[in-house]
Amino acid sequence: MTRIEIPNLPDYSEQSINGAVQYLYQILRDEIAQIRDAEELEQRRIQWLGRKAGILKQISERWISSCPPELRKHLGFAFNAFKQEVEIQLDPSKVVKAGIPVSVVEELREVPSFKTRKLDSESIDITLPGSRRLTGAEHPITRTLNEITQVFAALGYSVGVGPEVETDFYNFESMNFPPGHPARDTQDTLVVAGQERRPLRDRLLLRTHTSPVQMRTMELQPPPVRIVIPGKVHRNDAADATHSPIFHQVEGLCVDTNITFSDLKGTLDHAMKALFGSAVKTRFFPSFFPFTEPSADVQISCIFCGGKGCRKCKQSGWIELLGCGMVDPAVFAFAAEKQPAYDPKKISGFAFGMGVERIAMMKYGISEIGQFYAGDMRFLGQFV
Ligand SMILES: [Zn+2]
Repeated sequence: MTRIEIPNLPDYSEQSINGAVQYLYQILRDEIAQIRDAEELEQRRIQWLGRKAGILKQISERWISSCPPELRKHLGFAFNAFKQEVEIQLDPSKVVKAGIPVSVVEELREVPSFKTRKLDSESIDITLPGSRRLTGAEHPITRTLNEITQVFAALGYSVGVGPEVETDFYNFESMNFPPGHPARDTQDTLVVAGQERRPLRDRLLLRTHTSPVQMRTMELQPPPVRIVIPGKVHRNDAADATHSPIFHQVEGLCVDTNITFSDLKGTLDHAMKALFGSAVKTRFFPSFFPFTEPSADVQISCIFCGGKGCRKCKQSGWIELLGCGMVDPAVFAFAAEKQPAYDPKKISGFAFGMGVERIAMMKYGISEIGQFYAGDMRFLGQFV
């Protein structure tokens, strides 16, 4: 350990104070460069910061006590900044905490002058990027749901909504699924527990389709009715690449006098062209749904290959997309209990329904339905 000479101040001008302090910073830097372990650090700490004979104590005695009061401000500032630096650089907790004294000592070698430190702490780097705010966007399911809804809104349809927890009556019975009917088995249902003492039609369940809103709307409103029903539905399905216990549907209902199957075909053909492009063709196949008679499955020409046949359409050129049919007179009979105008002899109508996830997966080329619900920003960020 070398003996350290404390420089004399020839006068108390800022220039000579700064010069003397710079000289001390240089000494401090050289001293720190020589430290090799915690023991040496402690020796230096006592040498510089010792209460009775430490270098800082000596400087303070020699410089400050003889300084004229009007010049003390600058000297006090320079001395305190230097003292702070010494305390920071010779803080033993740094070495003890790090456990590897040499690397800490390496770090300590770069001691900036107090002027540089002050400038650094007060400067603003205007070249740094600002804090970026993430842009919000519609979830692909919401977007697809809205797109389908808008196609029908343009045809004069309004939007119907209803509860997700339904009674057995609205979900099944009024949709012409009588108790014990095998068609109920096709919609594996999640039922609220502990309702065995209630009559079957009042028991609560998570709706398996958006169809109960058809009945709720007809009970409130005499014909004509034109509604689309977007919403969440639940089935006790095991999750796999294309199935999820929660998914979304958009259903439609149109009731008026003289509504025919041609109206149904024309409406859906237009809707599919509006959704997937004017080149898309549609075709109808006989099917079965309890609430429509006759019922049909609708296929559209493959949007990937234009009908030539590819992997996506299993070489058939067609993709099955939705179910539809003419409203069964039995459904009108349930509606007529509250709204006598739904007399199946005087009015007729059609209904249709489609799965939103299936359409979104097709449109955006998504192979795993679970990605819609995982909340992964890397996936969702693609839709901004
Ligand atoms: Zn194809």
